Amino acid sequence: MSHVSELRLRDATVEAARVKLRSGESLSQEDGVRLFDAPVMELGRLAHAVARDRHGERVCFTVNRQLNPTNVCVLACKFCDYAKNPGASGSYTMTREQILEHVDPEITEIHIVGGLHNTWRFDDYLDIIRWVKEKKPSLSVKAYTAVEIDFFCRLTKKPAEWVLGELRAAGLDALPGGGAEVFSERVRRELFHQKIGAKRWLEIHEIAHGMGIPSNSTLLYGHIETRAERVQHMIDLRDLERRAPGFFAFIPLAFQPGVTGLVRRQASAIEDLKTIALSRLVFDNVPHVKAYWIMLGQDTAAAALHFGATDLDGTIGQEKIAHAALAKSPVGMAEASMVQMIREAGKLPVQRDALYRVIREYPRHEPVETPARAAAAASA
Ligand code: SF4
Repeated sequence: MSHVSELRLRDATVEAARVKLRSGESLSQEDGVRLFDAPVMELGRLAHAVARDRHGERVCFTVNRQLNPTNVCVLACKFCDYAKNPGASGSYTMTREQILEHVDPEITEIHIVGGLHNTWRFDDYLDIIRWVKEKKPSLSVKAYTAVEIDFFCRLTKKPAEWVLGELRAAGLDALPGGGAEVFSERVRRELFHQKIGAKRWLEIHEIAHGMGIPSNSTLLYGHIETRAERVQHMIDLRDLERRAPGFFAFIPLAFQPGVTGLVRRQASAIEDLKTIALSRLVFDNVPHVKAYWIMLGQDTAAAALHFGATDLDGTIGQEKIAHAALAKSPVGMAEASMVQMIREAGKLPVQRDALYRVIREYPRHEPVETPARAAAAASA
């Protein structure tokens, strides 16, 4: 019997969603909007049951580093505290040596995203992948959002198929899910009118999936979008996954207000947990919902493991984008802390790479070191 079948719920709206999901139906936009008003714990119980039916108690993470090679960007999205104009104070462009310093011996994944540099050519972006792959050929390279891919198409005047083919030949393994923001034309016009919208983002990921390049998907929430726009965004991604499967995970990204002045405070932990839970219920065709601890904070991310999240991203190393917007989380986390966080939530830690291949499964508890065990180990 599945966890969803066994679940007994008090709230009529969440119960109606449970019945729908159990019978194999997908939730509609109206269902999603209604569920946002349901009691958070009921929503969480259903999302947790769905997650347990998919993955048992397993929660994955990766030992990775985030590489943000430049914050110089030709665009100026209103919500972005990270980008700088060329030559502005605080702008940076990493050298080859600085880039290679990010390839620590223990990492299995590198996540590369950054600004749309005013003087870099496509070859400069290709070189970054070539360099990191040369230094560590076994590394999984997850690089460049659809926004960057579209920028490369404009730099080279070539179609996305060609650009993605070149990136793959250089060593690209997967695309990250950033740059989707919210698929609402109203929000795009207001906050990032120079940047690609839903149609182009979805098109690039569809092409990538068609070429066998997997990817992630994201939603930036907690600014000026409505809940209805949030749910519609999830449904658009779910539809793409039906047409062209290839998403590993959906990652709701909690907007960091920083000094943007867009909202006074970050979304509350309750709103975060509702968004995570709802994502798990809407995405009946994407393996994981990720609790991105850098933006959620460690405590909310840990709680999210009981609200449908089954992935915590990674150890990260030195994240710059969210921290430019004053994210309060640490800039990186040790592998042992990540394992501890998952264990404390009563879950089983599983280390994966960028392609979700299992690298190591950890026991639920650390074996207790007793004098007898230590003696046996010493004499073995
Ligand atoms: S969000 Fe991306 S594209 Fe927009 S300004 Fe920031 S770095 Fe540039």
